Amino acid sequence: MAVKIGVLALQGDVSEHIDAFAAALRLRGTGAESSVIEVRHPADLSGCTALAIPGGESTTISRLIDKNGLYEPIRTFPGGIFATCAGMVLMATHVADTRVHTLGLMDMTVDRNAFGRQKESFEADIPVVGLGDGPFHAIFIRAPVVTSAGSGVHVLATLDKGIVAARKGRYMALAFHPELGGDLRLHEVFLQDLGI
Ligand code: GLN
Repeated sequence: MAVKIGVLALQGDVSEHIDAFAAALRLRGTGAESSVIEVRHPADLSGCTALAIPGGESTTISRLIDKNGLYEPIRTFPGGIFATCAGMVLMATHVADTRVHTLGLMDMTVDRNAFGRQKESFEADIPVVGLGDGPFHAIFIRAPVVTSAGSGVHVLATLDKGIVAARKGRYMALAFHPELGGDLRLHEVFLQDLGI
């Protein structure tokens, strides 16, 4: 099956997401005929089965989503969305920072930079619902947490400060960065649940 995955390429760790999804597609046995492309404009979304919203600076990514006319096209995008860190902030319905125009695709309240500043970045081995073979080595960089989750949002992992991994149907939102480690199990689960 030929699959096209888009990575929102406005700001943030875009190339890491492209590499991780290309590797995950190979693991799913669909690497050769599939592609991972950069999404900057609404037309780039056409034919994509899924979109990754990368880590970065959510205020900046939000501003560029609006500027490039991507707000409604992402809101109505029929495929899966894999959102990490700043991406998780964008997926929420509520965030205190008014500079972020949230997409509102997952009913949840997000606290930006919940663990403090850059120097408070850390790594932790966390159990994640649905990952059978051992904890996930998660890299947190000025990470957000979900402080409350509403209807249809399934919690996959929590730390003391709050929820750090959640799903709603075809959407996955992670406070940490699976695209930076070698463990692609979450990418694989995400693709598998999309029928890939
Ligand atoms: N703190 C950032 C924000 O809220 C997210 C950090 C990241 O994506 N690594 O935009």
